Amino acid sequence: MCHKSSYFDNYCRILANARAIAEKNGFAAERVNVLVVTKYASAEQIAQLLSCGGVSMIGESRLQDSLEKWQSPLLSGYKVQKFFIGHLQTNKAAKVVDNFDFICSLDSLRLARCIDREGGKLGRCVNCLLQLKLTDRETQGGLDLKEAGKFIERVRKDFKYISLRGIMAIAPDTEDKALLRECFRSAAEVFKDYFTQEDYLSLGMSGDYETAVAEGGNLPRIGSAVFK
Ligand SMILES: *Cc1c(COP(=O)(O)O)cnc(C)c1O
Repeated sequence: MCHKSSYFDNYCRILANARAIAEKNGFAAERVNVLVVTKYASAEQIAQLLSCGGVSMIGESRLQDSLEKWQSPLLSGYKVQKFFIGHLQTNKAAKVVDNFDFICSLDSLRLARCIDREGGKLGRCVNCLLQLKLTDRETQGGLDLKEAGKFIERVRKDFKYISLRGIMAIAPDTEDKALLRECFRSAAEVFKDYFTQEDYLSLGMSGDYETAVAEGGNLPRIGSAVFK
């Protein structure tokens, strides 16, 4: 509990719920964290949340907006890891590499080349998650599920300034729980084959995180259910 912020109470409740669901389904509860998506929140709202301590990872999807917002004096002094979760165009890669700790939307070799080059200029590895596309219906970005294995091996072999740390996927907007489970499960299978417990399987948002965590997701991305 934090008397200053209902946002923090929301965060704590969701984190506890996610961990309980993970445990019930045979996954390590302590590996589960919540990535708080701050894209719709103001600097004031974010500062309220962070002032309670405890939140260590945030996600933003709109580059220019987020750069301006995070320059606010209200947010200076808070140490959080920033995850870029939006679609990334190659011409914006340099800025994102510079300002974020993780890029969650790596979905093409073209983008990988570009990120690798920027990492090389800075002389450091860029943490990336591979964004997978879970259904044909999906209009969002993401690499085709069938190409995942080859892509992961290729990135690990060819790009020394990319550290591939897991998978992000966005499920189709559906009421069909079975379909949702199946989508998350297919991403979890790729994760199991190519990543370790230390890596991130970022599945699920405010509306579907419970299903995502039940299938092994360990970093649901939660915006509206925290800032409501
Ligand atoms: C906005 C966004 C979220 C958060 O969605 P909510 O439904 O508000 O929790 C999660 N993931 C991505 C990629 C987003 O763009």
